[in-house]
Amino acid sequence: MKKIIYLLLTFVILTGCALNILTGRKQLSLVQESELQLMAKSEYNTFLSENKVLSSGSSREAASVDRVGARISKAITKYFATQGQESLLEGYKWEFNTVESKDINAWCMPGGKVVVYTGLLPVTKNEAALAVVMGHEIAHSVAKHGNERMSQALVQQMGGMALSVALAQKPQETQDLFMMTYGIGSEVGAMLPWSRQQETEADQYGLIFSALAGYDPREAIAFWQRMSTAGGGSPPEFLSTHPSDETRLKKLEKFMPEAMKYYNAAN
Ligand SMILES: [Zn+2]
Repeated sequence: MKKIIYLLLTFVILTGCALNILTGRKQLSLVQESELQLMAKSEYNTFLSENKVLSSGSSREAASVDRVGARISKAITKYFATQGQESLLEGYKWEFNTVESKDINAWCMPGGKVVVYTGLLPVTKNEAALAVVMGHEIAHSVAKHGNERMSQALVQQMGGMALSVALAQKPQETQDLFMMTYGIGSEVGAMLPWSRQQETEADQYGLIFSALAGYDPREAIAFWQRMSTAGGGSPPEFLSTHPSDETRLKKLEKFMPEAMKYYNAAN
């Protein structure tokens, strides 16, 4: 019996892989992106209703977040169109919100639902560094890392159940899984960390996305140096899995020439 289940799971894993056109990497993808976006929309609205959202009309911080978000989303929409990669943003309805919190954090759920916590802004200090972090979070979303993580969890914890079935049969567990995947809610410490490969992809494409929007990607270096000395409570998602600041900085240096090409073209 165990053997049969194992074979079935192997079958699910082999047939459930999709080639990601952004990264060129094969990913486990058992979940419909549209299903994830639907779930994201509802969780996003719940989160906003339970937190203090700042308005860009009266808050300088929220105005910054809106401006950076608008520039990045516009730039990557245009860029993907020139590359024939419009499908990466299928179903996206961008929303950028700033919530008052001392946590140093930000995230982007499927479909382009972004939140930045005010605790991040004293560390980013300028919009180019804010663009690096928002670009990183948007890259996780566009690279479908959440789908990959949810798919892995459905195989490991729910025997390869479809998301709709999991939602119907184990609604609470499935919702918890989703929240942990995106690091939402007060228990950031309970978040499932992204893999190192996912983090590296988010750094690489995040740098490119901020450069496409006309922000100087070199600000990333100073930002990560500031970040490594910033204290605070539970670590934000973008610090969760990196082996060391030094490794991250080395990789950023490696990605920088490519990002600079986009930056120079945008300015
Ligand atoms: Zn990350």
